[in-house]
Amino acid sequence: MAIELSAARTPIVFEPESFRQQLEEWFVTALPAIWGGSAPPVRPTEADDMEMRRRFDRALYAAGWAALSWPREYGGLDADVDFERILAEESAVAGAPERYNRVGLGIVAPALINHGSAAQKERYLIPLLKADEVWCQGFSEPNAGSDLASLTTRASLVDGCWRITGQKVWTTLATVSDFCFLLARTGDPHSAHRGITAFIVPMNQPGVTIRPIRQINDSAEFSEVFFDDAETVQDPVIGEVNGGWQLAMTVLSYERSTNLLNRQTRLAVALNALRGAVAQLGDSVPASLVDDLVELWIRSEALRHTVREHLAEIGVGRAPGIGNNATKVYWSETYQALGALAVQIRGLACEQGELSDDEPDWYGYYLGSRAASIYAGTDEVQRNIIAERGLGLPRYAP
Ligand SMILES: Cc1cc2nc3c(=O)[nH]c(=O)nc-3n(C[C@H](O)[C@H](O)[C@H](O)COP(=O)(O)OP(=O)(O)OC[C@H]3O[C@@H](n4cnc5c(N)ncnc54)[C@H](O)[C@@H]3O)c2cc1C
Repeated sequence: MAIELSAARTPIVFEPESFRQQLEEWFVTALPAIWGGSAPPVRPTEADDMEMRRRFDRALYAAGWAALSWPREYGGLDADVDFERILAEESAVAGAPERYNRVGLGIVAPALINHGSAAQKERYLIPLLKADEVWCQGFSEPNAGSDLASLTTRASLVDGCWRITGQKVWTTLATVSDFCFLLARTGDPHSAHRGITAFIVPMNQPGVTIRPIRQINDSAEFSEVFFDDAETVQDPVIGEVNGGWQLAMTVLSYERSTNLLNRQTRLAVALNALRGAVAQLGDSVPASLVDDLVELWIRSEALRHTVREHLAEIGVGRAPGIGNNATKVYWSETYQALGALAVQIRGLACEQGELSDDEPDWYGYYLGSRAASIYAGTDEVQRNIIAERGLGLPRYAP
């Protein structure tokens, strides 16, 4: 299907394959500027990584490709989601960084587009796309992760304005965010999922304290965030008061589907790099490791096809189904197996003195993969959902 791209600049009409070619050419000139030099640094510092990501978001916006499948009135192109797939594939192959405002794009934007007021859409969506305003997601708390309905962060109406008090944790990008998409309790303490509301809270204010958490891979991308009578913005409620639960569940299900596209394409690119390393080591690689690599390639191809099917369903207006939960588990297991195999191959390369300077950071990759079975809903909880809602099995009651 041809679409007309009239986003930012001159209108052009093209087909998916010419879009792919256009992207390939665009990356050749755009990427050196995004990397801040002529080639991508193998192990960028955290600050450089953030800066590259921000440049990538801005370059995409300037090219008119920041939100291909979004409605035009919010900065998108109303394009088929298949164009998003092509962009994700070409970005991964070209070695482009991940999107900077990925929490905003993956979670906040669907919430605003589907549940926000007209004024909220107009105020927030374009600055989000341009990465002029960065967003974080304040859902998890020390005692409310998988069991999100037990969250205790409180929102109270003071002189007609909502104020927030409580603690969030594991808040990705909190240190660089302008706004938090936050769930707080507005019903009584026992109201569970019925008494939760979604708010927009500015991060740069005296009522917000951010303490970064440094992880095993040395990244401090997420933080503990303390809200002490923090102010909200004007018109701060997304959706209805006490209607935050359903809204949150819907956007999380989108996170497990559209984000899978980026995750799957990046996994395929990492697998290809590992295949290259194995080929270089030749016969010294034990047959069992070669078998593992083949198994991962089969899983990666299965993922590619499954993710395409999920996207096709979203493309015809269906909400993400239980298959997305299964694919999330399959992806995280594949990613972790790839990380584990990569460090074994790297060990072999070390033994044989075959390490080069431009080797991917496989240890960082391995450590990063450990979190994949936790974020976007833990694998154990996904299995519960698949069992109960997908297969109709009885609820486990210990
Ligand atoms: C890299 C990363 C980034 C994150 N970014 C964000 C963010 O930006 N914003 C945000 O709000 N949160 C974020 N999170 C938090 C994430 O959503 C939670 O870690 C996740 O929901 C699990 O909650 P928890 O850590 O409290 O673990 P818990 O819910 O306490 O779970 C502990 C263990 O018990 C298991 N378990 C719990 N309940 C059940 C059950 N009913 N049946 C079987 N097993 C169960 C879990 O699977 C897990 O293994 C991030 C997490 C990670 C790792």
